[in-house]
Amino acid sequence: MKIDVLIVGAGGAGLYAALSAVKENKDLNIAVLSKVYPTRSHTGAAQGGINGALANVDPTDNEELHTFDTIKGSDYLADQEAVKYMCYEAPKIIREMEHMGVPFSRLNNGKIAQRPFGGASKDRTCYSADKMGHVMLHTLFEQCIKEGVTFLNEWFMLNLVHNGKRLVGVTAINIATGEVELIKTKAVILATGGHSRIYWGYTSNALGCTGDGTAAILRAGLPVKDMEFLQFHPTGLRKSAILVTEAARGEGGHLLNNKGERFMAKYAPDKMELGPRDLVSRSIMTEIRENRGFRDEEGREYVQLDLTHLGAEKIKKRLPQIRELAIDFEGIDPIKEPIPIKPTAHYAMGGIDTNVKCETPMEGIYAAGESQCVSVHGANRLGGNSLLDIVVFGNVAGKEAVRYAEGTDFAKGGEGKKEEEVKFIKELMNKESKETLGDMRNELGEIMFKHFGVFKNEDEMQEGYNKLKNLIERAHKNLGVEDKSKVFNLDLQSTLEFFNLLEIADVLAYASLQRKESRGTFFRDDYEKRDDENFLYHSVITRNSDGSFNYKKGEVQLGLYEPAERKY
Ligand SMILES: Cc1cc2nc3c(=O)[nH]c(=O)nc-3n(C[C@H](O)[C@H](O)[C@H](O)COP(=O)(O)OP(=O)(O)OC[C@H]3O[C@@H](n4cnc5c(N)ncnc54)[C@H](O)[C@@H]3O)c2cc1C
Repeated sequence: MKIDVLIVGAGGAGLYAALSAVKENKDLNIAVLSKVYPTRSHTGAAQGGINGALANVDPTDNEELHTFDTIKGSDYLADQEAVKYMCYEAPKIIREMEHMGVPFSRLNNGKIAQRPFGGASKDRTCYSADKMGHVMLHTLFEQCIKEGVTFLNEWFMLNLVHNGKRLVGVTAINIATGEVELIKTKAVILATGGHSRIYWGYTSNALGCTGDGTAAILRAGLPVKDMEFLQFHPTGLRKSAILVTEAARGEGGHLLNNKGERFMAKYAPDKMELGPRDLVSRSIMTEIRENRGFRDEEGREYVQLDLTHLGAEKIKKRLPQIRELAIDFEGIDPIKEPIPIKPTAHYAMGGIDTNVKCETPMEGIYAAGESQCVSVHGANRLGGNSLLDIVVFGNVAGKEAVRYAEGTDFAKGGEGKKEEEVKFIKELMNKESKETLGDMRNELGEIMFKHFGVFKNEDEMQEGYNKLKNLIERAHKNLGVEDKSKVFNLDLQSTLEFFNLLEIADVLAYASLQRKESRGTFFRDDYEKRDDENFLYHSVITRNSDGSFNYKKGEVQLGLYEPAERKY
């Protein structure tokens, strides 16, 4: 198979990249390859909204304020010109999506409605009730079909193939048949999404958020960036960790401890519940640690998110999905009772190292979306900025990849790669499993949540890293595939995804141990302060051929705002 520009991933980033690519050059062969059917990508689960300084609600809002809020929110680790670019593109790209047919919620005057969100100084988050990602994903998919983008649905990318100078192609399995292919391509855009599933059982992410593209980058000898930064969202449901959108607090929800106090008054007196996510998550965990939380019969600890005072009408109109989720997964109707919540692993700020043109250091390989780290979110992403990031940089990646593909031919090489993959998979299928995948995944989630959670310290992390190394070794030795069939072998796919999770957890743990400070979402009890003198840098990591890591310090692009203490 030969494809000029191949986009791996059909979430918001992949679909926007594909749209921009076909609009840029209709004569090229442009295809999207996705392991799930496109409209099942995790973007469809996004609830609260997308940020852009349209100033529809507050006429004093503008792009500059959006830029500043984002940089402050990032704890000054974001690259400032990149943030500026994203925030100035926002109003344009949101209106463009409106024209494509995205059904935004409206103000009485007909303009796109905007709600307050965490860490934002103005009401800036555009929304569609609490289903923003769902409507964006469906609209973008329709547009791609209309423009004639080719789709390879339910194909699983295995690895990148390059010749040391430039990309040759990717290897992938057609899930429906089990056949492995080498797909030759001039340019690839990795839009494979986040990796919060390393916190298995403690995450808001879909089952497929396993960081496959990021793991493939590491195996290809290319760099990942800022992997130690993984965001905990303050409000996951107590039992399932399913997300309750920040919009619940944006619409006026209160966080309560076991004394019935709105405890955020202590931690963020001005912003209260609408402090940034890192701060609110830590505040919840502090209440729980200091015995002001609740504990259920099964020992689960939590605090309450109270929406009852908003009234039935507002909850039904603005937060219908949240109500459904609370009823289905907690047996609680938020119109009548507070929702039990606790922080949940939610978003990867770190990922594939690219510049603002979405280029990796290897010619022909691009990345966009949550799998990519430009970085515009630094040490802590603001809610509503990811749906923005994925379309803004999806757009850039699509155009840049087309430009590159126009000026080049298919690279030679890669012949033995397909056979290597076939051999690897055959061995995995023939191996007798000595442990079960399900147990091992739970073990991974436990290690990560306990040792690399909201609060960290040297001893806990070191102990966790030792456990993780042991798990990795056992997985490679003991894990085989029980289901021996070729057609739709999800056992095989889950096993391959688990190996990717281990790859990511390994580098995240390693990166965490190197950063001896607290910044944004990354908080250590033993180094509670941000340390700009020694740690204001991006961690850039590659894997050496002997399996060890190579650690470099990447410059943070400042220039617009001097790093200052964050107060809310
Ligand atoms: C519950 C939830 C709510 C959220 N709410 C908001 C919000 O309100 N506002 C906001 O700004 N952000 C929100 N976010 C974050 C935001 O939704 C995500 O960061 C963003 O949608 C990621 O988009 P993406 O296109 O990069 O990846 P995804 O949408 O995750 O798509 C990844 C794609 O890659 C494909 N893929 C992955 N691996 C492979 C492989 N090996 N082979 C082939 N294909 C592969 C998948 O099939 C999928 O199509 C939320 C996230 C969650 C989890």
